[in-house]
This record gives sequence, structure tokens and C-alpha cells, in this order.
Amino acid sequence: IRHGLGNRLHFFTAGMDTRARRWIEVESELRHALARGELQLYYQPIVCVRDGRVRTVEALLRWNSPALGWVSPAEFIPVAEESELIVAIGDWALETACRQVRHWQDTGLPAVRVAVNVSAHQLAGGRLPERVREVLERTGIDPGQLELELTESAMMSDSEHGARQVEAISRMGVSVALDDFGTGYSSLAYLSRFALTKLKIDRSFVDGLSRDPKSSIIVDATLGLARGLGLRVVAEGVETEEQRALLAAAGCDALQGYLFSPPVAPAALGALIDRFAPA
Ligand code: C2E
Ligand code: CA
Ligand code: CA
Ligand code: CA
Repeated sequence: IRHGLGNRLHFFTAGMDTRARRWIEVESELRHALARGELQLYYQPIVCVRDGRVRTVEALLRWNSPALGWVSPAEFIPVAEESELIVAIGDWALETACRQVRHWQDTGLPAVRVAVNVSAHQLAGGRLPERVREVLERTGIDPGQLELELTESAMMSDSEHGARQVEAISRMGVSVALDDFGTGYSSLAYLSRFALTKLKIDRSFVDGLSRDPKSSIIVDATLGLARGLGLRVVAEGVETEEQRALLAAAGCDALQGYLFSPPVAPAALGALIDRFAPA
């Protein structure tokens, strides 16, 4: 017995070791990724239920590391968060996304709004409203063309301070969405405290729609709550026609997912142009 346990312990620590080593490797490569131009933004269309048009795209980080190959955001975002590299990376994402919107506009694409993910550290830093203002000025895009996506954990870290910043940002005319709704806790308190315009229902609920009756109860309750508070609702991770039909019938305003399009490189977005709302 002792022998077996010893083996398992050995296996366990070896496993921890591999993960710890990978984390450190990712972190040390990530430190240079920005300066070396290894990060990119891809854009995923968000489709309006009412008319099937695209008015917003979400900017999502992609990292092709010469040393590690493609690293998924699911892996490198947590590393970036813990090392606080996310502040510089998030700042770059904000500026790059706004520049991209400006570029699309300059090349004659219908006006589009971009949704940019913002981390808890960016909100905690206290300079987010200033940064947003600077970027809007530099790129010359309309504040209405920018939306920030915040998670509950971002709002939770220091909610008084966070609420003031969100308020300042929304006063500029930039909209703020609560991302991954339903996966955190105390969600309901944030809904009234923060100047939000939108809720994004997490993919896990969309995924469960046809299998788990509880998912559809949560989706319906979310929509009721959002309607009462005057918030728009986007559902993410829509992969099937069945999910699309259920979410549309439930009253979602917009849908996002592989059923419509995966996140694509900026140049590929032009191919989806016929789906964009006319200017
Ligand atoms: P998120 O903000 O919830 O973004 C949605 C994720 O779902 C994206 O994963 C997207 O590619 C994926 N997705 C979209 N449609 C579908 C679908 O139909 N099915 C499935 N299975 N997945 C779908 P991605 O690009 O891997 O990003 C993962 C997470 O990394 C994001 O989740 C977000 O939390 C974080 N992230 C990405 N870019 C940024 C960024 O610029 N800043 C910050 N702070 N976080 C970011
Ligand atoms: Ca998001
Ligand atoms: Ca999300
Ligand atoms: Ca999510």
C-alpha cells in the first residue's frame, strides 16, 4: 500500500511540476510578447436577433509564440492576470481595437462597434477612464462605437472604486457589458450598482439549454431581470440552430457563437460585410 501511495504521490508532484514549469514558461515568453508583436486581436461578430445584422464585434486576443506556438487565451490570460502583464496587454488591446474600428471606417465598411474585454487589474488601477478617453481622442472614433466587457470578479475586487470608474466611462458614452453573467456570485447587487447597458449570458448556460431544464430557467430569469432593469442581453457560445431558436424565442437581443462565425482575423471580417448593418 505504501509503495502504491508513494507512486501516486510521485506522479502527482511530477504533474504539478509540469504545470508549474509550463506556467513559468508561458509567463517568461508573455513578458516579451507585446514588444515583439506576437499578440493579435481577432474579431467575432455579434448578431442582432431582430434583423440578423452585425453591429458589434468582440475583440479577442490571439497569441502565436515563436517558442510555444499558438497559446490559447484560456491559458495565457490567467498568467497575464497573475503577473499583472494584463494591464499592458489590455491597454494594447483597447487601443488596437479602436484603431481597427477607425481603419474599417476609413476603408468604407459600415460603422461597427467593438467590444473589448477588460480585466479586474485594469479597473483596479484607477486609470481606465483616462485611458479610454485618450484612446477615443487618438483614434477619433465615436464613444458609441466602443463597449467594454467586464466580469463580475472585475467589479467585485473593489466595488465602490470600480462602480465610480464604470460610471465615468459610461458618462463618456461608452457602453459597459457584464460578461459571463451567472458564473460569479452576488450578481444581482452589481446589476443595480454599476452603470451597465448589457448582460452577456455565459456559454455554460447556452450549452445546457437543450439538455438541462435548469439552464433554460436561468436564461429566462436572466432575461426577465434584464428587461426589468432596461438592459440588453447577449447570449454567447451559440453553436446550434436549436440554441439560436430557443434564445431568440426567450427574448435575447443578440447572439454570438460559432453558428454565425468564429473569431476571425481583421482582414477576414470583410468577407462578412454583407451581414453588417448598413451605416
Ligand atoms: P470570453 O470573454 O467569454 O470570450 C468568449 C470566448 O468564447 C472566446 O474564447 C471565444 O472564442 C469563445 N467562443 C465564441 N463562440 C463560441 C462557440 O460557439 N463555442 C465555443 N465553444 N466557444 C466560443 P477565447 O477567444 O479563447 O477567449 C477566452 C477568454 O479569454 C475570453 O472569454 C476572455 O475572458 C479572455 N480574453 C480574451 N481576450 C481578452 C482580452 O483582450 N482581455 C482580457 N482581459 N481577457 C481576454
Ligand atoms: Ca468577453
Ligand atoms: Ca463571455
Ligand atoms: Ca465565457
